[in-house]
Amino acid sequence: MNWLCAQLDRYTLVSNSDAHSCERLGREANLLDIELSYPALLGALREGPPRGFLGTVELFPEEGKYHYDGHRACGVCQDPARTRSAGSHCPVCGRELTQGVLNRVLQLADRPDGHRREGAADYTPLVPLKELVSEILGKGAQTKAVAAAYEGLLESCGSELEILLSVPVHDIERAAGDLVAEAVRRVREREVSTEPGYDGQYGKVRVFRPGEIG
Ligand SMILES: [Zn+2]
Repeated sequence: MNWLCAQLDRYTLVSNSDAHSCERLGREANLLDIELSYPALLGALREGPPRGFLGTVELFPEEGKYHYDGHRACGVCQDPARTRSAGSHCPVCGRELTQGVLNRVLQLADRPDGHRREGAADYTPLVPLKELVSEILGKGAQTKAVAAAYEGLLESCGSELEILLSVPVHDIERAAGDLVAEAVRRVREREVSTEPGYDGQYGKVRVFRPGEIG
């Protein structure tokens, strides 16, 4: 989204996890091919891609708690285009909607939606592995069943980022079954459906269509 704003062109855009819990460390990350030193890190950030700084790993932006505009108490979630045409008040209760990140970026943008900055490092949107397992099992991401399946995946296939980014799909299928392999393939191909977050409500990313599994 930041590629829409020319004022950000001179910056190397990075993506970092917040640290509310150990489990969430590394769900967003920067890909660097440098020696492990502070000067090398600084140099990669200053110079930007293609040398040293290779890109970012991120959640799908729709998963954020404030992607679209909305009013959570009324269950109202709306696209900024709708806000522009219909106004910024909740159609249910009349209160001012909480403006989302996408709306703000579009206000600051001086390029058309979908623009890709020339020479920019790539970004790779991912879905946390526990969320994929949760969707497949039909159980909450914090349940014991999901934790057990998740730990089994790490033992058989490697680290979470390796599984999501680079382990061959047929290796995942052999170790963990066709549903996990297909889920990872779809995330890599960005074949997912999203329900954007709004007004403090997390968005949802799904890889399977309703009724497709289970
Ligand atoms: Zn309302």
